[in-house]
Amino acid sequence: MKSFQKNQSLAEFSTFGIGGAARFFTKVETIEELQEILTYCHSHKLSFHILGKGSNSLFHDEGFDGLVILNKIQFCEIEGSEVHVGAGFSFSLLGVKTARIGLSGLEFASGIPASVGGAIFMNAGANGAEICDTLQEVTFIDEKGDQKVLERDELSFSYRYSAFHAMRGAIASARFALKTLDTARKKQLEIVAYRVKTQPYGERSCGCIFRNPEGKSAGALIEKCGLKDKKVGGAKVSSLHANFIINTQDASSKDVLALAKYVSKNVKEQTGITLEMELRTIPRTYDP
Ligand SMILES: Cc1cc2nc3c(=O)[nH]c(=O)nc-3n(C[C@H](O)[C@H](O)[C@H](O)COP(=O)(O)OP(=O)(O)OC[C@H]3O[C@@H](n4cnc5c(N)ncnc54)[C@H](O)[C@@H]3O)c2cc1C
Repeated sequence: MKSFQKNQSLAEFSTFGIGGAARFFTKVETIEELQEILTYCHSHKLSFHILGKGSNSLFHDEGFDGLVILNKIQFCEIEGSEVHVGAGFSFSLLGVKTARIGLSGLEFASGIPASVGGAIFMNAGANGAEICDTLQEVTFIDEKGDQKVLERDELSFSYRYSAFHAMRGAIASARFALKTLDTARKKQLEIVAYRVKTQPYGERSCGCIFRNPEGKSAGALIEKCGLKDKKVGGAKVSSLHANFIINTQDASSKDVLALAKYVSKNVKEQTGITLEMELRTIPRTYDP
């Protein structure tokens, strides 16, 4: 059994660069290690949190009072148009790698700084595509350490939602069925070029803070309400894309949440529309 690190700063493991320390921290590189650790947590009643690339996770300023498990299961096997990949593999790299060999379906992933597991959990999407479009099955380790293979149709995918939101355990690996397309690489390069032009890359953020309300763009609503550049502490609404909050200097989790609250309150008052958070706020601990 691996030993745990103590008091590991979580700010380093979130693209926001925000968060206190985890009481215990470990990384897993194989499915067997993941099973072993989840079994340990179950038998020792230890609260755990699964961390991908932290690109949609706002950690608490006081950190996490339990074990943070960093998923580094990173194999990637491609046979024909079938892909079998570890949940800790880079989602962006998967988009590039598959497009380069003329496989289509994950071009939109390039530039999304996620892990494959985090992207499945969130049903990540862009440019009219979502990860569930090409996903076939997921190997999942439940909170007791038992392994299950779950088919796409069992996973209730919808806009930025999957059944994993209501499950305790970890996505270990996934299989995708892609299609061949001569222009896949061209499409992927166009997507990434557009992304870099329209989103505050190079700045510390967690992507879109709010979900798009039905038929509307949250970013356009926030911009229309004149909220670009609004600041609370070190957190600021991006001047490039209004649905991004940026950590300009030493923003705290409290700053981000206060700014998000200010934005949603103003949008509600000015447009009557309620914005819901897409960002995951990670609690201090989970109820047993
Ligand atoms: C610059 C930028 C651009 C972005 N663009 C997009 C975009 O175009 N489209 C989009 O959908 N999102 C986008 N995002 C948001 C983010 O990348 C996605 O939400 C992504 O799916 C999060 O993946 P992650 O590995 O970073 O997850 P994390 O932030 O690490 O985790 C998010 C949630 O998933 C859970 N989780 C992670 N891995 C696992 C696992 N293996 N098993 C079980 N649960 C797990 C965590 O516990 C947590 O609750 C963007 C973010 C940034 C910073």
